[in-house]
Amino acid sequence: MDMQIIRTSAGSQSPPIPSGVPLGVSACAIRRIAASCNEGRSEMKKARGAVLPASHHGNHPATSRSPTRAPMSTTGELEFKAYAMTDPSAWSDLEVVSFKPKDLGPEDVELAVTHCGVCGSDLHVLQQHWGKAAGDKPVIVGHEIVGKVTRVGERVKGVRPGDRVGVGGGLDSCRECRACKAGYENYCPRMVITPNAAHYDGVSTQGGFATGVRAHESFVFPIPDKVELRHAASMMCAGVTVFNPLRQYGCAPGKKVGVIGVGGLGHYAILFAKAMGAEVFAFTRGTAKADDARKMGADHVVDTTAEGWWQPYDLTLDIIISTIDRLAPSMTMANLLGMLFVHGTFVAVGLPPLAEPLPPIHPFMLSKNGSSISGTLVGSKSDAQAMLELVAEKNVVPWIEELPMSQAKVALEGLHTGKARYRYVLTQDIIPVA
Ligand SMILES: [Zn+2]
Ligand SMILES: [Zn+2]
Repeated sequence: MDMQIIRTSAGSQSPPIPSGVPLGVSACAIRRIAASCNEGRSEMKKARGAVLPASHHGNHPATSRSPTRAPMSTTGELEFKAYAMTDPSAWSDLEVVSFKPKDLGPEDVELAVTHCGVCGSDLHVLQQHWGKAAGDKPVIVGHEIVGKVTRVGERVKGVRPGDRVGVGGGLDSCRECRACKAGYENYCPRMVITPNAAHYDGVSTQGGFATGVRAHESFVFPIPDKVELRHAASMMCAGVTVFNPLRQYGCAPGKKVGVIGVGGLGHYAILFAKAMGAEVFAFTRGTAKADDARKMGADHVVDTTAEGWWQPYDLTLDIIISTIDRLAPSMTMANLLGMLFVHGTFVAVGLPPLAEPLPPIHPFMLSKNGSSISGTLVGSKSDAQAMLELVAEKNVVPWIEELPMSQAKVALEGLHTGKARYRYVLTQDIIPVA
């Protein structure tokens, strides 16, 4: 590796990390599984030579090569900086590196990152649960990215430098397939995912634990003035991942929505379902999070360790959003689907390891109430815009814990051990954005 690495001391006193699979993996995970198997890896190897030798130092002031200062004509010389994993055996020890972003295409937007949320999928990438992470290259995760636009390609219409925007789990898509043309670019089979994959030009994709990010305009979401950037950050993956099915399946006044799991995703599902006017039922193990769930807006909180916890809700719920990736033994599909009202939908947005499928399903479970089982994958630009409009209109404020980006280790390990209440958001501190 031909990069100069500046080691940070962030979180070096943290306790050892227990083994096991992290909780709360969102639907953005599946693209990363696919990415670990596809041709993107060979493209990344080809692109390796594009990384510039670094000559920078950590925590220095902005220079003419920073994303906020570099002139429009020198995209090929630009460097971004980031906190990166350079040693897979120490997955949470991130170090400052410099890297060259992809060239700014005519429809691309560049932003200076102000904040980036921390998602369970970041842990999977860093811990290489979905394959070896990007060869010997530093891995820069983070896909709940917000910041200010620093430059735009010549054909970009929707945003201008200085605008506040967000980027989530995707950076680009083919824009030619049926899904893209229908406005479902998040389901494009060739969607370019945010870290640990490759752009169409072969340059490695990097995440938001960085000073800058470049993405196609269709994956850049303007953030309303009323919404604080630090609040919008974790909406870019966790938020839109649960807003998408709530919108898709008609969450509205008069509907009853069940949310299984009160974590990063579940907390957003409760906040949004309530903001959309539904009656909200939060299902959580034990009572530790019951008060929080009520404060988030849950009308009912159900302890799923209680005997027969599902029985009072037979034929009740219009939508169930399952945000957990491991179902307890009492969470049989008969019990879960049985809680749905007629034509209700069970949506699994928590994604378990590949070897852990849903429990068995018999057609009787679906014929009982005409119910359906669904899944969703992050959200489209349309979903993100609708979500942000709701957030602005209803003043939805997420429950987040903010840390400087140099403390990413604390956030990553906190998420890994289930300490997050309810989402970590990292604030840029390599080159702070004015
Ligand atoms: Zn995510
Ligand atoms: Zn497409």
